[in-house]
Amino acid sequence: MIIQRFFSESARLACRQLAAALSAGCLLSGAAAGDELIPEELPPLPLRERAAQILLEAIRLVSVNPPGDEAPVADFLVGKLREAGLEAALIATPDGDSKLGRAAAWGRLPGSGERRPLVLLSHLDVVPANRAAWTTDPFAGIRRGGFIIGRGSLDAKGVTVIQLLAMTELAKRELPLKRDLVFLATPDEEKGGLDGAGYLVRERPGLLLDAEYLLTEGGGVRLLSDQAPPVWGISVIEKSPCWMRVAARGTPGHSSAPPRDAAVPRLIAALDRVRRLEHPIRVVPEVQRMFAALAPLASAEDAPGYADLATFLTTDPAFRSRFLAERSQAALVRNTLTITVLEGALSTNVLPVEASAHLDARLLPFERCDVFIDRVRQAVGDTGVRVEPLLSFHSRGSTIDTALYRAIERVAAASDPRAVVVPRMLEGFTDAHFFRDLGIHAYGFVPRWHRAGELRGIHGPDERISIDNLERGVHTLIAIILELDRLD
Ligand SMILES: [Zn+2]
Repeated sequence: MIIQRFFSESARLACRQLAAALSAGCLLSGAAAGDELIPEELPPLPLRERAAQILLEAIRLVSVNPPGDEAPVADFLVGKLREAGLEAALIATPDGDSKLGRAAAWGRLPGSGERRPLVLLSHLDVVPANRAAWTTDPFAGIRRGGFIIGRGSLDAKGVTVIQLLAMTELAKRELPLKRDLVFLATPDEEKGGLDGAGYLVRERPGLLLDAEYLLTEGGGVRLLSDQAPPVWGISVIEKSPCWMRVAARGTPGHSSAPPRDAAVPRLIAALDRVRRLEHPIRVVPEVQRMFAALAPLASAEDAPGYADLATFLTTDPAFRSRFLAERSQAALVRNTLTITVLEGALSTNVLPVEASAHLDARLLPFERCDVFIDRVRQAVGDTGVRVEPLLSFHSRGSTIDTALYRAIERVAAASDPRAVVVPRMLEGFTDAHFFRDLGIHAYGFVPRWHRAGELRGIHGPDERISIDNLERGVHTLIAIILELDRLD
């Protein structure tokens, strides 16, 4: 009857989790702190319940970047991996301004070594949340109507939980796999990842165990309507960021007697020229292939254009305006340039010595950030305004001619014979590029099912994921890993 011995702390935690899960009293015998507790035989929590509990806990370990503070949540995950009997480690990363520390969680489920490892990658930091726009505290970890609500539930702690449970479930089954599975949950993705995945790839590449494949955020299963076939979007390439700062200098002082060269108007004039820059349409082969794959799902009117995007965008003005009206589509066929951060005076009656703005440009693959910045400088055309680079990566794609891609295709077909698998380009970016640079085949794909509009919570208010989705995600990821093993 006695199945396990716990010390009081973990017993209390287990008790709380079970009580929450089963809405029932805890079966532990009462004991004072420090006593050894002996629980009676308890039913194990169902997978969906464990997924929900871990995600709620992870949301409550606040890891807003900046400053990050990811160490507590990384430590929590390392504990979960070890509980499941896996080799795991907390990997310190540069701390910056973080008070609680920054770190990655790493774990390994060993295979026979016949094939090179598969990395399951996610990130632990989240973007800030504006409490006023939410219907609940973004960091309380709330469960409502079958959903988990909280910052990071989709991006990306929900991914972390799916990957973690796929690993621990596989460990439990003790199936002989040909390749190691590596769990890696990193800090700093939301700020570009240089102090997270970038740091680890540079300083601790041994953690990747010479991996062949990697799965991370960036794609999933979209349900366009109840009748339409599910679309399995697998991100194989990303646009590359080219971030810059534009700074105008001017005579500082009291704003009651403004000079001709005040910094703020000078900046505004420069930004006005920048925002008028035209960005020509260019269809890269990956985008041509992506829309060709989507053509069978398009309306009769749009299907021919999807099937041959490059041609129709040039020759069919009606199609072009319909296509470009959808901003996520428009972003796939040209560079974009967005003015975001603005800084000027701190007071109404003060002339600042400098006024500045950040520009977020996203470039099509194989375009150079330095060349693009030169274009921006030319558009600015003012020697008193500096344009400085902030962040850039080049873009590299992953081939779809791999066993992992085929494994995803087969699992998609098995789950729904109508499923359409689409290799896509992402208009945003993830940490995948750090790993593609090492020659790892990296796909942005986590099996989560989303209806139109459900992804709005990413970086927005009331971010949420259904518990069904977490559970189905774990089962589907396991199916993909087992299918990969079979195809190898
Ligand atoms: Zn993310």
